[in-house]
Amino acid sequence: MSTLKMVDLYGQYSKIKSEIDSAIQQVIDSSAFIKGPQVNEFQSNLANYLKIKHVIACANGTDALQIALMALDLKPGDEVITPDFTFIATVEVISLLKLKPVLVDVDPTSFNIDPDKVRKAITKNTRAILPVHLYGLCSNMKELLAIARENNLFAVEDNAQALGGTYNDGQLKGKAGTLGTIGCTSFFPSKNLGCFGDGGALMTNDDALAEKIRCIANHGAKVKYYNDEVGVNSRLDTIQAAILDVKLKYIDQYITNRQKAANYYTDRLNDFENIEIPVIPDYSDHVFHQYTIKYTGDRDGLKKYLSELGIPTMIYYPVPIHAQKAFQVRGSFPITEMLTKTVLSLPMHTELTADQQDYICDKIETFIRK
Ligand SMILES: *Cc1c(COP(=O)(O)O)cnc(C)c1O
Repeated sequence: MSTLKMVDLYGQYSKIKSEIDSAIQQVIDSSAFIKGPQVNEFQSNLANYLKIKHVIACANGTDALQIALMALDLKPGDEVITPDFTFIATVEVISLLKLKPVLVDVDPTSFNIDPDKVRKAITKNTRAILPVHLYGLCSNMKELLAIARENNLFAVEDNAQALGGTYNDGQLKGKAGTLGTIGCTSFFPSKNLGCFGDGGALMTNDDALAEKIRCIANHGAKVKYYNDEVGVNSRLDTIQAAILDVKLKYIDQYITNRQKAANYYTDRLNDFENIEIPVIPDYSDHVFHQYTIKYTGDRDGLKKYLSELGIPTMIYYPVPIHAQKAFQVRGSFPITEMLTKTVLSLPMHTELTADQQDYICDKIETFIRK
């Protein structure tokens, strides 16, 4: 059995090596490293896949979030509601723009922002809700969009982890990241659609917003050297776009591989003592960016034990945002507190084999029965 990894990027690459290599070589041959034609091609192919009007590529997922908030013309002190249980980037950009992050606790089963708690957090200064589709599961968008409508709020989706997922509650249907005002995603190598470096994108159905986003990402200029507003420099390199355009053809297959691996884990771990497996709600599929269990026994002991046997695991995330030194927000976030102490993400990628998963599950079982 080959070495176990959280993510097997090389294994995935090796299966489409010739296609990727020639896509990269084409960019080098043309030497259009910035704004080459592959960027537009990828944007329109991703837009078709997601069934959304506009995809605007940028330099990374954090930039996508920042540009989205800049495009909404929010004023300093305006409040943005977002989960306490997320990657720092989500909250960082809110503060960076002098907006006020209003942290809200999550739902213990979906790991996503709890709509009831969002309702309670709304004030006269609230302007936007920024849900995060954590681990590959879309948030409860029907509830969140209803709240947004009732209170005249923007909804920005942090879709860095759920690209390709499909929300469908029988009424509202669409790809994760395309349901709110603006969707943001990341092409960080380990994400579900990953490039060979940094990359990100925004998506929207709103023509005016799309134009504004393009302008902001381009130094606030629609015409070169004529700057209408203060923007940023955030571009997707042509080489990354070329790689992503090849990989986009395989995204559904990659998702299927992840879902198969997830089902395999679930079948094995289902009735282990003190383990809770991920739950798939009736309103969305799950694209398993992570396969994250909750273990109410000695979580850190299990992590260490597995690590000694060559099984990597990760804790996404060990510290609630409100408790980060950079934020230090007071409030009650019992679910996030509990999750930071119990979650454990197991190896999850497109190349996992049944042998590898059997080994992982056997060792978890041995630890639990000790
Ligand atoms: C990865 C990630 C980001 C940031 O993406 P980068 O491309 O690394 O900037 C933002 N939010 C979440 C939830 C993420 O997982």
